[in-house]
Amino acid sequence: MDKKTQEMLKKLPKIDELLLLLEGQEIYALAPRALVKDICRKAVQELREKITGRRKDAREAISLETKDVAGKIYQKIKSLHAYNLRRVVNATGVILHTNLGRAPLCPEALQRLVEVGRGYSNLEFDLTKGERGLRYDHVCGLLCALTGAEDALIVNNNAAAVLLAINTLAEGKEAIVSRGELIEIGGEFRIPEVMSKSAARLREVGTTNRTRLSDYEKAINKETGLIMKVHTSNYRIVGFTEEAEIEALVALAKKKRVPVMNDLGSGCLINLENYGLEHEPTVREVLSAGVDVVTFSGDKLLGGPQAGIIVGKKNILAKIKKNPLNRALRIDKFTLAALEATLMHYLNPDEAVKKLRSLKALTEPVVDVKKRARKLLNKLQKEKFESLTLRLCDGFSTTGGGSLPMQKIPTVLIGIKSNKMSAGRMEEKLRARAVPVIVRVDKDEVLIDPRTVSDDEFVFVIEDLKQLMPN
Ligand SMILES: *Cc1c(COP(=O)(O)O)cnc(C)c1O
Repeated sequence: MDKKTQEMLKKLPKIDELLLLLEGQEIYALAPRALVKDICRKAVQELREKITGRRKDAREAISLETKDVAGKIYQKIKSLHAYNLRRVVNATGVILHTNLGRAPLCPEALQRLVEVGRGYSNLEFDLTKGERGLRYDHVCGLLCALTGAEDALIVNNNAAAVLLAINTLAEGKEAIVSRGELIEIGGEFRIPEVMSKSAARLREVGTTNRTRLSDYEKAINKETGLIMKVHTSNYRIVGFTEEAEIEALVALAKKKRVPVMNDLGSGCLINLENYGLEHEPTVREVLSAGVDVVTFSGDKLLGGPQAGIIVGKKNILAKIKKNPLNRALRIDKFTLAALEATLMHYLNPDEAVKKLRSLKALTEPVVDVKKRARKLLNKLQKEKFESLTLRLCDGFSTTGGGSLPMQKIPTVLIGIKSNKMSAGRMEEKLRARAVPVIVRVDKDEVLIDPRTVSDDEFVFVIEDLKQLMPN
């Protein structure tokens, strides 16, 4: 050990000294003594590692003054009282932004969370019979009515739904999937890997761009447990393509007595074409083609809480419900409460499109977005930001969340440039606020897409931009 290292180690603050200083700052109002002591020990240990560490330059910057170290510890303890999970304003124009929590909940769902969470509920209690009930039953009626399914089950998310369904139907057997449908959704969800975790053997058929009915037919044997269709949510194969007609596939499966499952991903309950968007297969369409079981997400196009919804034939759902894995993937009362309120809106699809924020954002006519962009621009101009140049420009929003990858959604953006700092720096500062505004940056301009910003969030955009001004 060199001399400098020895000297620095000697200067390390003593735990008792740190505690004494922190006591003077009334630290015990923020955390109990044992926790404060523990954090002090860890802080000193970290300093020791830095001093003796291989990177000699890293230790040049550190202060070993007791009051500096105590100050850092104080801040650390104080930060334990600040919420980490917070609301943000999504000004990116990505409607189902997975990193920003996908679908915002409707007011009715939020109200239900409070109502059900505040006290006890009939989560697993049948109020008519006065005996134990099933938690899924609360949304089963609505789901069956809205999709034409015989039965329904809800789990944590769609990844869990797929895992559970495959495991139930094809454990130790083969599951046939087209090579054009071996999807990956955001890294951790890849069909071949989910398949192996479900203890099913993946039997790939066809090619990337063309899979025919005869490919499935040839692959079916006595080891086959399942034929699986996967919606290519986040990409499209275009050009010289072919896929087996779902009705023909169902007929083949019936003849061979093999169940057919369809992972729809986004799982749409209404015909999006009626609202000027590209066609997305609805759950009802797929079920009426004869598919036995369909899985989809609660927080993608559906616009509700994170959940995995499994609907289909009664006998298959009965098997899935009995799988012990189901218990490990079960959802909580909050999800059910929010999902029930979300689903209820679909009894009137025109209402759903108005009340569910993600569907509303997806279908808001560009002239309306433009009006709101002007409104926000006017408010910003009233602030007379001296160093900012503001303008409106045309652009595109995207669906995100692995849905409608080809859908072009025209929008009107507010472009912001500063003569004091780069767009990257502005983006960073807006992200550091109490209510962060998450923006897009393009060619040294900050872009705000009002399509994903509600009128009552404008105030945060204005407040956060004010903080960019030197005063
Ligand atoms: C999104 C998606 C999933 C995963 O759903 P989560 O709700 O994110 O768990 C699975 N399959 C498809 C086809 C998807 O699009």
